Amino acid sequence: MQGNSVIYEVKFSLLPLPFIMNKIYLLLGSNAGNREVLLQEAVKQIADNCGEIVVESSIYETAAWGMENQEAFLNKVLQLDTRLLAEVLLKKLQAIEDNLGRQREVLWGPRTLDIDILFYNSDVISLPDLKVPHPFLQKRRFTLVPMAEIAPTMVHPVLHKTIAELLEECTDTLEVAKWS
Ligand code: ADP
Ligand code: MG
Repeated sequence: MQGNSVIYEVKFSLLPLPFIMNKIYLLLGSNAGNREVLLQEAVKQIADNCGEIVVESSIYETAAWGMENQEAFLNKVLQLDTRLLAEVLLKKLQAIEDNLGRQREVLWGPRTLDIDILFYNSDVISLPDLKVPHPFLQKRRFTLVPMAEIAPTMVHPVLHKTIAELLEECTDTLEVAKWS
């Protein structure tokens, strides 16, 4: 019996990580160029390069956050199933941002396309270039409103509250209006 369990553990530990399916929530945002087309094109490129898109929220419009003298953002949330490791997924998403014309000049300035990883399963990741859950998600209605549309009961693994509860408590005052 003991022998069997040792074999099982060895086999399990050898199971390559790329075979494990991961459940991801992404936030897409655009406030420059043809915002709706950019979001559609991002969805297509994510489906082609990163995994299977399982659920898409509606699109919402929000005044620019952090720096208010610029065009309003369109945002939407996707739930993606992927076998990619978080760091690999981030690199692929950054390549998609670059493909769609993103220029990295002004922090919180206008961007054709921004893709943020909100959740990666219930993992807590703290690497220099990747923090998951996204550190600001509970502070931003433009993230919580579309998340609450598709995953209101999802529990934040650090704050131990549901998305619906975080939205209820959020003090962000920027209006998030359903756009399409
Ligand atoms: P923001 O999304 O905060 O407006 P950027 O899109 O310019 O700003 O991202 C800046 C950096 O944030 C990226 O270079 C990336 O490495 C880092 N980053 C940290 N955590 C995440 C995350 N969860 N999703 C996406 N990028 C992240
Ligand atoms: Mg970003």
